[in-house]
Amino acid sequence: MPYRSNDIAIVGGGASGVLLAIQLMRQAAGRLQVTLVERGPDIGFGLAYATGCAGHLLNTRAADMSALPDEPDHFVRWLGHEAGSGDFVSRQTYGRYLQDMLKTTVARSEGRLQLVTGNVVAATPERDGVLLTIDGAAPVFAGRVVLATGHRAPGSGRGGALRGDPWSSDALDGLAPTAPVLLIGTGLTMIDVVISLMERDHMGQIVALSRRGLLPRTHPVAPRPAVVGATDALFAGALSARLGAFRHMARAGAGWEAVMQALRPHNAALWQSLDEPQRRRFLRHLRPWWDVHRHRVPPQVGRGLKAVIAAGQLSIVAGRIVAVDTVAGPATVTISLRGSGRREVHDFGRVIDCTGPRSDPDVETPLQAQLARDGLLRADPLGLGFDVGDGDALLSRAAAASPRLLALGPPTRGRHWEITAIPDIRKRAATMAGDLIRAIAP
Ligand SMILES: Cc1cc2nc3c(=O)[nH]c(=O)nc-3n(C[C@H](O)[C@H](O)[C@H](O)COP(=O)(O)OP(=O)(O)OC[C@H]3O[C@@H](n4cnc5c(N)ncnc54)[C@H](O)[C@@H]3O)c2cc1C
Repeated sequence: MPYRSNDIAIVGGGASGVLLAIQLMRQAAGRLQVTLVERGPDIGFGLAYATGCAGHLLNTRAADMSALPDEPDHFVRWLGHEAGSGDFVSRQTYGRYLQDMLKTTVARSEGRLQLVTGNVVAATPERDGVLLTIDGAAPVFAGRVVLATGHRAPGSGRGGALRGDPWSSDALDGLAPTAPVLLIGTGLTMIDVVISLMERDHMGQIVALSRRGLLPRTHPVAPRPAVVGATDALFAGALSARLGAFRHMARAGAGWEAVMQALRPHNAALWQSLDEPQRRRFLRHLRPWWDVHRHRVPPQVGRGLKAVIAAGQLSIVAGRIVAVDTVAGPATVTISLRGSGRREVHDFGRVIDCTGPRSDPDVETPLQAQLARDGLLRADPLGLGFDVGDGDALLSRAAAASPRLLALGPPTRGRHWEITAIPDIRKRAATMAGDLIRAIAP
């Protein structure tokens, strides 16, 4: 079968794939042929920005959401009078921005950036490149392939009262307006689902459960400056000593928000300064604390959440699930409460896994199954994503860095840790585009 030949193919048209395509076109100055393949009907939205709920807001101020690292006010200019730089606009608006940027980039590329709709089911390395087999489109051959395949749902349950995908359109379908709901997880995903429930005037009791019952902190109404002294003490030594230094800095200076803000551009370096046992300890003990302080909610979302809790409709519970019985009708769930160990049994009309997006290899998808089977892809040692080496090249089963297969975005969490938010992805996309262009230059 004849196929399209390219310098670079990007698999996945969510935010990461789109940001990389834009950077490749901007930096290559007319020399590059690129194909972006997306299996869904809309390129540019991905998981985060495809939401049908207008109340789902960005958890980052507009000022920090430019698609272009070298034009920090680009998104604010695009918004025009719609919103200001300190505002938290809807994720739907951000999806429109990404689509608009992509449309403009395609139009200016004069055919050098091609968009293809189809599911990439195999990536087969050949002598001079990689052949992509695509369900729904002709094969594509490219010198380099970047996997920007993003996130996946936290669970897999779909039947009866259980839902493993909190973002799927059927997560709340058929739910009686007064039915009690159990949300597993108390982070941003749980808050998304509570907002969706409120938007459809749900009247039933909502229980949100996690081991510690921690809620994401709220952004201050106005941004605070990231002013702190030297942060060197956070980049070396035992984890406990670093934590002590963090607490000292927060107390002595402008508070933990200022320290987190100052660290933001250095989060990858901070992660890379930990050895593997330290990373494991961080994930086991500190991750929930890191997450609720790093990934905060807009002030209006924080206020809304407090109101639902104060009204008695939403309860935040610290504990763990001991048993779930879903034989018929509602799910009967046994919960062991943190601290007392007391067990409670409740019936829920819906139980939704809100433990957050995953980005470890998904061997249920044909592409990742084939890559794993052929020894071209493996999970990183912590199971956070794909194992990647320098330049985010995929590491094979034998730990060899692929010269032609790379990854971008959430699947590279094992190497970068904070690589899920736009400010981190756009920076990485710009660097990767420059590296790719240099690597394939004649
Ligand atoms: C609910 C949510 C809210 C968020 N809110 C914010 C925020 O407010 N601010 C912020 O900065 N960041 C936010 N983020 C983080 C961030 O923007 C996301 O991490 C980002 O969208 C990642 O995009 P992605 O393209 O890597 O992944 P995804 O959005 O998951 O996109 C991956 C794409 O690849 C496609 N794909 C996968 N496999 C194949 C295949 N084999 N063939 C073809 N296509 C394929 C999928 O269909 C999908 O469209 C949020 C993330 C989530 C999940």
